[in-house]
Amino acid sequence: MLPSFAIRALSFAVAAAMATACGSRPQAPPTFELSGSTMGTRYVVKVVGGGGDVEAERALAELVEAELTHVDELMSTYRAESELSRFNRHADLTPFAVSEATFEVFAEAARISDWTDGAFDITVGPLVEAWGFGASPASAPPSDVQVESLRQRVGFAKLQLDASTRSVRKLDPAVEGDLSAIAKGYAVDRVAEALEAAGFPRFMVEVGGEVRVGGTNDAGAPWRIAIEQPDAVSFQTIVPLVDAAVATSGDYRNFYEWEGGRVSHTIDPRTGRPVEHALASVTVVSGRCVTADALATALSVLGPDDGYRFAVANDVAALMLTRWAGGGFDERSTPAFQRLLDEAGVR
Ligand code: FAD
Repeated sequence: MLPSFAIRALSFAVAAAMATACGSRPQAPPTFELSGSTMGTRYVVKVVGGGGDVEAERALAELVEAELTHVDELMSTYRAESELSRFNRHADLTPFAVSEATFEVFAEAARISDWTDGAFDITVGPLVEAWGFGASPASAPPSDVQVESLRQRVGFAKLQLDASTRSVRKLDPAVEGDLSAIAKGYAVDRVAEALEAAGFPRFMVEVGGEVRVGGTNDAGAPWRIAIEQPDAVSFQTIVPLVDAAVATSGDYRNFYEWEGGRVSHTIDPRTGRPVEHALASVTVVSGRCVTADALATALSVLGPDDGYRFAVANDVAALMLTRWAGGGFDERSTPAFQRLLDEAGVR
């Protein structure tokens, strides 16, 4: 099951076409491009002005890979000795000291959980594993009895964060965290902020479909980020961005068929079950990717109507694609998302 590659950056192809179309090709500063694997998915980084010098490119590659490895080694449930896996095995009620990065992600997760009334909830870990979307594959969905028993271990209120000791305390020893819906976005932010600190304010960073852009692309235009159409190989729309982050959560990459139905990897903590509505994909634009990543999952849990109402009421820039029974998708964007497109002169 592949993680959602819901977003593709078309920055160079489109920018080059635009430049050629008006007959002039601006002297683009050398751009450095890097790609590879991380966290069970792919990453792509483009740094305007970062290319042209082997030593500088090597230093940039080391900077990017150091940030991605740091997050993977702290927050992976696929690494037995990661900080998160050790926290998950910490089966008592004493505080568990964590690194600054993990505490920051737990704190943002708690904020989004509180904001979305528990729709986003990193304590869904045991349910994610039971439904077959964790590090150890499951042969069949859990029984109703198993779901009810696992639900007792879930609830973001079962975690107590203490900033003064930078520790997390379980109020139920059986609680386990899953940061798959927020830590990739956090990793994108860390790479973005490291590039800015190194003097490269114009970049595009993508990890498994979560994206953050800095400044403009090599043609001096907004980065043009394409949002994939679920179940297809075409694009639903293209979002022009400058200094923003975008993340998509969908049910069309990480799912399996069971007894004629689609089992999504997005779990509703209130029922302990995968969501069953027709919302196929949610894209959120925000200042930070960690927030966009978590909000996209939260809106996926809330569903097409409650999710849209929440996003409008909170002025969240969101695009929702809902499956029509006969095929195709209903596209609904919030006023904040539409403002983004209007400001960029799109549509
Ligand atoms: P999103 O839509 O962003 O999030 C869905 C995921 O979040 C689900 O898969 C589940 O894990 C969790 N979730 C479900 N419901 C909720 C909810 N209500 N609230 C909060 N979270 C929820 N995958 C591998 O195959 N191999 C690896 O080695 C590997 N390493 C990883 C290391 C790290 C640090 C992280 C963060 C993830 C890793 N993954 C790995 C998982 C993979 O990268 C993706 O995170 C996963 O496939 C989901 O990505 P997504 O963008 O499709 O999901």
